[in-house]
Amino acid sequence: MPVNVLFAARPERWETYEAPLRTALSEAGVAANLATKMPAHEVDYIVYAPNSGVEDFAPFTRAKAVLNLWAGVEDVVGNPTLHLPLARMVDHGLTQGMVEWVTGHVLRHHLGMDAHILGQDGIWRKDIPPLAQDRRVTMLGLGALGQACASALGRLGFAMTGWSRSQKEIDGVTCLSGEQGLRSALQVADILVLLLPLTGDTENILNEETLAYLPRGTVIVNPGRGPLIDDNALLAVLDSGDVGHATLDVFREEPLPPEHPYWAHPRVTVTPHIASETRPKSASQVIAENIRRGEAGEPFLHLVDRNLGY
Ligand code: NDP
Repeated sequence: MPVNVLFAARPERWETYEAPLRTALSEAGVAANLATKMPAHEVDYIVYAPNSGVEDFAPFTRAKAVLNLWAGVEDVVGNPTLHLPLARMVDHGLTQGMVEWVTGHVLRHHLGMDAHILGQDGIWRKDIPPLAQDRRVTMLGLGALGQACASALGRLGFAMTGWSRSQKEIDGVTCLSGEQGLRSALQVADILVLLLPLTGDTENILNEETLAYLPRGTVIVNPGRGPLIDDNALLAVLDSGDVGHATLDVFREEPLPPEHPYWAHPRVTVTPHIASETRPKSASQVIAENIRRGEAGEPFLHLVDRNLGY
């Protein structure tokens, strides 16, 4: 019997994902009816993205799992009607994209590229940047993305510190955890990268108090989630120069409204939530593998801990 897979995401996603999903399901040996509409009580798996129109999971009486298309699950994890296993997206294309984006923005600040890109004015600016080994980079969040980025930056030679909820051991990265660990991680951050999920515990984790732990002139790079940062507190330390620059990819409100002070701030770079995207081909393989596992009675990959919220 084929399994019924509902693709619950905005219509333009269907155009991108239909063909790779069909291919991946067939390559995984899963016979499936894949569609954007089917009676809820007949659905076996829900491939899900926010704003899909599916808000109430109660009618999906025989569904076995919700397979999120995105890495972040903050829009669905607290849904009181959801009692099914929820898997998030861990996709090597998404990870590689994030490694490239983070490395690029860290190198921009490390090498002081702006001085030359923006300074083509006849002045011979001969400032030599330090070697990476003399630049301290802190990564908040050492999950699928944070760990890959920290390892890549470590391989370039940066003096890496990482912080996560549970204690980690990663080659080339000084790993910290706990409240005191956060303080220590911030105190050594010449460049600070945020790759935490948004949960009740991480919201506003960068606030007036924690921003004050940073050395003067730290550069913040945030491809995690906008609400990790208290915006007013950040604007205050950007105005004072205590924080040297913020490269922000994610915001409380997206698209970032044109009148938001971040757009015009001389110490802020805004990018429009483009740090990395789920890649249809590799992500479809992850989804197909999870459906194969569900049918074989094997544990699902990348399950979200509903209590922790990620
Ligand atoms: P993971 O769930 O794999 O990793 C999350 C990390 O954060 C883990 O190391 C976890 O610790 C740590 N963490 C969570 N809560 C806390 C806490 N309270 N205190 C300390 N550490 C904590 O997520 P990913 O790496 O896959 O993704 C991270 C985030 O990146 C996503 O949630 C999403 O918001 C964002 N993202 C942004 C994209 C963009 O284009 N801008 C694209 C994709 C994702 P532990 O290891 O102990 O569990």
